[in-house]
Amino acid sequence: MTSHIEQLCIEKGLKMTDQRRVVARVLSEANDHPDVEQVHIRAMRIDPNISIATVYRSLRLLEEASIIERLDFGDGRSRYEEACERHHHHLIDIQTGEVIEFINDEIEELKRKIAHDLNYRLIGHRLELYGIKRRTDKDE
Ligand SMILES: [Zn+2]
Repeated sequence: MTSHIEQLCIEKGLKMTDQRRVVARVLSEANDHPDVEQVHIRAMRIDPNISIATVYRSLRLLEEASIIERLDFGDGRSRYEEACERHHHHLIDIQTGEVIEFINDEIEELKRKIAHDLNYRLIGHRLELYGIKRRTDKDE
């Protein structure tokens, strides 16, 4: 079966090797934001011979083709997810490492407004929130 990311690669005319196909499948099936080592571990379950260097190169290729996005959650490790139509941001729980995805139309509007007011057209941005879970409603 062809994974969703593999399908995107084919549409973009990328040459697909067996090992690239494995990396594409791992990322298609991921519901989290794996780093290179996590992608490698999952890829080895499908192909025990795949090297971390191959995984790394495949990720770079997919990122350059804008098929996946590289994320930086401030811990020095790059993480990856499929670039999706539904634009979202991440809130990182710094105690558990849990990553919560959120969508907020006001933020999107505000980003455009800031750029516009400074006489720019927005072409990119980065926004990650870091937090500690509140225990009670009073715990601001
Ligand atoms: Zn995400």
